[in-house]
Amino acid sequence: MNEYDSNRILDLTKKINYTSTKNIEEADCYVLNTCHIREKATDKVYHEVGRVKKTFRYKKKPIVLIVGCVAQAEGDILLQKENYIDAVVGPQSYHAINKIILNTENKRTKINLTEFQVIEKFDQLNLIKNSNSNISSFLTIQEGCDKFCKFCVVPYTRGPEYSRSFSSIISEAKQLVDNGSKEIILLGQNVNAYNFKNKRLSDLLYSISEIRDLARIRYTTSHPKDFTDDLIEAHNQCKKLMPLLHLPVQSGSTKILKNMNRGHTIEEYLEIIEKLKGEKPSIKFSSDFIIAYPSENQDDFEKTLSLMKKVQFINSYSFIFSSRPGTPAANLKKIDTTIAKERLSIFQKVADEVKKEYRKGLVNVTVNVLFENKVRDTNEYFGRDEYFNSVIVNSNENLAGKIRNVKIDKCNHNTLFGKVILEDRQKDCAA
Ligand code: SF4
Repeated sequence: MNEYDSNRILDLTKKINYTSTKNIEEADCYVLNTCHIREKATDKVYHEVGRVKKTFRYKKKPIVLIVGCVAQAEGDILLQKENYIDAVVGPQSYHAINKIILNTENKRTKINLTEFQVIEKFDQLNLIKNSNSNISSFLTIQEGCDKFCKFCVVPYTRGPEYSRSFSSIISEAKQLVDNGSKEIILLGQNVNAYNFKNKRLSDLLYSISEIRDLARIRYTTSHPKDFTDDLIEAHNQCKKLMPLLHLPVQSGSTKILKNMNRGHTIEEYLEIIEKLKGEKPSIKFSSDFIIAYPSENQDDFEKTLSLMKKVQFINSYSFIFSSRPGTPAANLKKIDTTIAKERLSIFQKVADEVKKEYRKGLVNVTVNVLFENKVRDTNEYFGRDEYFNSVIVNSNENLAGKIRNVKIDKCNHNTLFGKVILEDRQKDCAA
């Protein structure tokens, strides 16, 4: 979502004649868009600001703005501790960035803008064309969260759940496709909680899939509690919807899910998985896991291992629990570090095995790839298959934006390598 926000910030600042530069040394304004989800996020901000300071030691100081969730959570402290920062701007206030930049150009006061003005933000953004022209583009449809999982900062940094208007999303999706996007990834902290005047995520999927030159749709991140039957059915009915679903579970133990305030049991989670497989037998899953959440015992941990083996998640993101200041879990008694590290290592070994087996099974298989870009200084093209696996092929033809069948020759942990199947070369890319 920060990538989407950063692009929108760039679109906004064009109005006051700012543009992006790859050369940091010539920047007049430095916008650091921050994420608060992982540990040491604030330290990273000071580190980055330190780098800017060093770069500009003998030059005119650029305007330095800290935006995003760290600004929201720790704005006052940042301004007090680091005088080099000119303003902090929360994720629901960045539509005001031009005023802030102009204020700072005129050497006015330091600003802390961290209100939850999400309606105003999207009203402003809807007036400005999305100029992003990536082959695969993000599109935010929903923000914020009302779930209050005990470990998570999002409800405090992004605010309550908010769904953008149906028509503004369709219009932005059309802009992205006009710009050249072939794939749209719909974003939300609780993307499947989307509800605008009773229009649901499934309605959006059907409407967006009608955009002629759009080939692929994905959405992330969904919550099991909001997985309704209409959405499950859309996985069968909506042909442009890709067959990989990222569905965070965090733990395989219902006891831990309850302690986390996730709002569902493991049986309910598995029921969703089964229903989805019933609608779309080729569907695969990825997930997030928190290992060694306070109160997790060996039995709970083994349930998480069993879940991994049962569902065979083709990708997983796992971390040892780390507390976020201000969340209810922050004061809970932590699991001993040695045990926590040992559990993470065991879990990741099992997850790696599952992934390795899955990827081994792809060798000599033909996959359908949307190519995104040429790898710099080579004849190689990078793309993704339907399951979001990275694929690289050699080609003399410009493959960017094209969809091709690729026979996979080999793979490593992160990438599949293969050859474009010859008879596909002349085909048009449009779905
Ligand atoms: S549902 Fe997701 S975003 Fe909301 S509180 Fe839980 S983990 Fe955070």
